[in-house]
Amino acid sequence: MTRLSAQDEAAYAALAQPGVRGLCAYDPGLDLVALRRGWPAGELVELGSNENSLGPSPAALAAFAAAAGDLHRYPDPLGGTLRGALAAHHGVARAGIVLGNGSHELLMQLAQVFAGPGQEVVASRFGFAVYALAAQAAGATLRQAEALPVAAAMPRGHDLDALAAAIGPETRLVYLANPNNPTGTWFGTGALADFLARVPPRVLVVVDEAYLEYVTDPALRSAVELLPEFPNLVVTRTFSKAYGLAGLRVGYLLAAPGLAAVMERVRESFNVNGPGLAACAAALADQAHVARVRASNAGEREALADALRARALAVTPSQGNFLLVDFGRDAAPLAGALVAAGVVPRPMAGYGLPTCLRLSVGRRDENRRLLQALDAALGGSR
Ligand SMILES: *Cc1c(COP(=O)(O)O)cnc(C)c1O
Repeated sequence: MTRLSAQDEAAYAALAQPGVRGLCAYDPGLDLVALRRGWPAGELVELGSNENSLGPSPAALAAFAAAAGDLHRYPDPLGGTLRGALAAHHGVARAGIVLGNGSHELLMQLAQVFAGPGQEVVASRFGFAVYALAAQAAGATLRQAEALPVAAAMPRGHDLDALAAAIGPETRLVYLANPNNPTGTWFGTGALADFLARVPPRVLVVVDEAYLEYVTDPALRSAVELLPEFPNLVVTRTFSKAYGLAGLRVGYLLAAPGLAAVMERVRESFNVNGPGLAACAAALADQAHVARVRASNAGEREALADALRARALAVTPSQGNFLLVDFGRDAAPLAGALVAAGVVPRPMAGYGLPTCLRLSVGRRDENRRLLQALDAALGGSR
């Protein structure tokens, strides 16, 4: 019998389940902890993770602080208050809502529950990296549908025809994001309904709406309205983006109550912490804050896109709080120059887009710092 050596990852990987053996951990981008050490507080412009630089509702912060008095208690294992508020907000039954420690957890568990060895998971090229991770970790095979061409109105966006064509007899799950990360591209609710009508009822379709609160195109509404018509539809949402609560790790899914009940079987009973439950209920009640965030982001998003296009850069249309920018050459040196200037982008080489960077839309002062750093790096004199 061979001895395990503590530093030998490969030796331990050989003991892991087949799906995990070939897996690479999620790439969270540049090392922010190290970067923050190099800058005075508040000086580093963090545009790498699509966080909300306006922060959460003050009501959420107050609820969080109040809940800190109960840290010696386990949280409500059913998350009843938050789920009830979410049910009212979305006009669905509470039994159709499952809470997650971030929607990332739910995206992983959906594959764990509904896909496995010998079965397939379909996602789009340039789709969110977690879908491939979820499929592989479950031991399922990822079947990647080709994305729309760069010349399309939605460059590298989801090609719903290609996704439908990739569904085969072994397909159990389809993941798609609307709007998509990292492209920012989107499609309307009508197109989604047409797609769902083409999917066999035994195949679950997960629509990841992490950025839905940022959407300003009236053609795109939440897929929640399609749940009654399509019992194989699952919608995931998060408090990490427009609600400005990424640090709390709270997400949720909406689905048929029967499907939600199956997901509940694998949910760790206290997966959402007490302050998280309290803060998210308060954040949900403050829709005026969400509306302010949406309006502010929409204005800054278009202004930033215009400023980048004025610099002859290829900017993908976006309905999220970020822009995918194609520099037409290796973007790694540029990323390095931005970081040196205290502006953190998200490199895209891991997505097969080495000439691109993803840039979160920040506050106006942050976007100005970004443009200044870009101009210096590109040798411009604007
Ligand atoms: C940020 C993001 C999420 C949210 O992840 P959480 O775990 O809820 O923080 C989910 N999907 C996509 C596409 C994202 O970009």
